[in-house]
Amino acid sequence: MGYDLERFVGYVNEGLLCCVCRDVLERPLQAPCEHAYCSACISSWLVHHHSCPEDRLPLDVNSLKPLYRYMRNDLNRLQIRCVNAAQGCEVVCSLESLHTHEDGCEFAFISCSNTGCPVQVERRSLEAHLSECNFRSRVCPSGCGHTLLSIDQSQHNCVAELRTEVEMLRYMLCKVDEVRREMESRLDSQRRHMVQKESQLKNEVEELKGQLSRVMCDMRALLGAERLRRQELAEAELEKRELLELLRELQPIRSQQPVEQPTRDQHQGEHYSWRSIDSNSILKTLLNMQAIL
Ligand SMILES: [Zn+2]
Ligand SMILES: [Zn+2]
Ligand SMILES: [Zn+2]
Ligand SMILES: [Zn+2]
Ligand SMILES: [Zn+2]
Repeated sequence: MGYDLERFVGYVNEGLLCCVCRDVLERPLQAPCEHAYCSACISSWLVHHHSCPEDRLPLDVNSLKPLYRYMRNDLNRLQIRCVNAAQGCEVVCSLESLHTHEDGCEFAFISCSNTGCPVQVERRSLEAHLSECNFRSRVCPSGCGHTLLSIDQSQHNCVAELRTEVEMLRYMLCKVDEVRREMESRLDSQRRHMVQKESQLKNEVEELKGQLSRVMCDMRALLGAERLRRQELAEAELEKRELLELLRELQPIRSQQPVEQPTRDQHQGEHYSWRSIDSNSILKTLLNMQAIL
């Protein structure tokens, strides 16, 4: 929508009027047919039409271009009254600087800056309103520490307020205590469980120690027996060797008895193998040894 023609001071060229709203161009765009429109006006026109509203020549949104520079300059130089003229603003400025003025215009209506306040005041009256606004807040002058909206100030009672707060704190304290007790009982049961577990483990360790010492004892006994057996073997070997020795020495005596002549070694005539001597002959040898000794 364009600027109301009534607001302008002096002559406005007809070429600077929008072909849709017939007001002075606002954010203008130009069609290839050189007709110009406010961008909002032509956008909503083209939703339902596909032609220039002035001469019905085909038109689509992509063929719209910015206004010629000389026309833009003319437009910017137009003198316009502030939108707040009805409230008393007497400012007349170029269209180019209109927004700058209106953004800070003292006659513009603005919302009160206090949260929750629905009042709209002229910018120039804001300060006066804030000093009496029902939604301004301040710390309680009696020193209870509460921040009060001035609308609530008459009903404010420091003692009641503080009592409520104390009640709430007491309630929270109760809750905290409850939680603490629960935690403690949980901790206690965990501790008991740990102690139980510890003694169980100790018992197991003791039992394992006992088993280990028994195994060690067995091992020692086995090793002793093994040592003894080796010793016995060694002694037996020694005895065997002595017996063989003795046998060899006794051989000449025994060879004179033809019945008990042992088998001769096939390759070496002078030696007799241990295998060729049967248990009978060993016994006899032993008896001989006994006789000799
Ligand atoms: Zn327009
Ligand atoms: Zn046209
Ligand atoms: Zn103004
Ligand atoms: Zn207010
Ligand atoms: Zn108070």
